[in-house]
Amino acid sequence: MMNKVYLGIDIGGTAAKFGLVDEDGNILYRDEFSVSFDGYETPILKTVLEKTEYFVASGGLSFKDISGIGVSATGQIDSVNGEVIGSAGHIKNWVGSKIKESFEKRYSIKTVVINDANSAALGEKWIGAGKGYKNIVAITIGTGVGGGIIVNDKILLGRRGLAGEVGHIVIHGDGMECSCGNVGCLEKYASMTALVRKVSALQKKNPSHFPKEFEENINGRKIFDALLGNNPLKEAVESWIDDISLGIISLVHIFNPELVIIGGGVSSRKEFIKSLSEKVHSKLMPRFSQGLEILPAKLGNDAGLTGAIYYLIENE
Ligand SMILES: [Zn+2]
Repeated sequence: MMNKVYLGIDIGGTAAKFGLVDEDGNILYRDEFSVSFDGYETPILKTVLEKTEYFVASGGLSFKDISGIGVSATGQIDSVNGEVIGSAGHIKNWVGSKIKESFEKRYSIKTVVINDANSAALGEKWIGAGKGYKNIVAITIGTGVGGGIIVNDKILLGRRGLAGEVGHIVIHGDGMECSCGNVGCLEKYASMTALVRKVSALQKKNPSHFPKEFEENINGRKIFDALLGNNPLKEAVESWIDDISLGIISLVHIFNPELVIIGGGVSSRKEFIKSLSEKVHSKLMPRFSQGLEILPAKLGNDAGLTGAIYYLIENE
């Protein structure tokens, strides 16, 4: 008998990744399509539905070969109804998209929909850094800060699927305004955007202390490449890591996980994980610190797509 094949779709703000995934989480065939080509005049959902047919056919399958569809999607996702109910960004024609209903009507295949950060956490639990762990806090450091909480092997979804917005816990009560309407959110201090902003301000004040290539533009890779022996830069990075640690410490005290997974490009920097780990452990209550591991994510850009399939299989 042929093994089951699932269709995974990871819908982001610029592109949708498609994958045919087997029962063990292997991606057998993949492709990627722009969803932002005309500034979202064509609704993302319409693009994705059309590309789905093309993708399945180009993968050499027909819909009767697909055992289920798992969708990981950006924004606030109502996992119960499988629809988009909010968006922090500025994506036109996205809120209100009835993803589950549209797929099930069109293809008559069971479809589940989950927020991309929660999905990425599940992907890591299934076949990534979190394999074999039951209680996990996953946090991704990128242009924003996202996350997912796994309690006793299950993703914490809350009433409608919105749980795990770790970027919007408040770490500075009198802090900067956040896109969510609140002030002092973790995301405003712990994202890569926040680090670049911090370093840019320092560089403008004192350009001679920074490498020449910083004049053109600044990004996380350049910052970490230049870190060794550069004191003003080091201070900026350490205070940024302090802010990340504040968020993680709160989360560990609430959820008592055995593992914290750090995602995003910066997680591949050993010195970053080491410093973060030291800061977190130094401020945790001792019993929370014992045996707690802090590890980089393993799946990179595949985490969302893979996690959506794990969520689907869990709900079969
Ligand atoms: Zn916020």
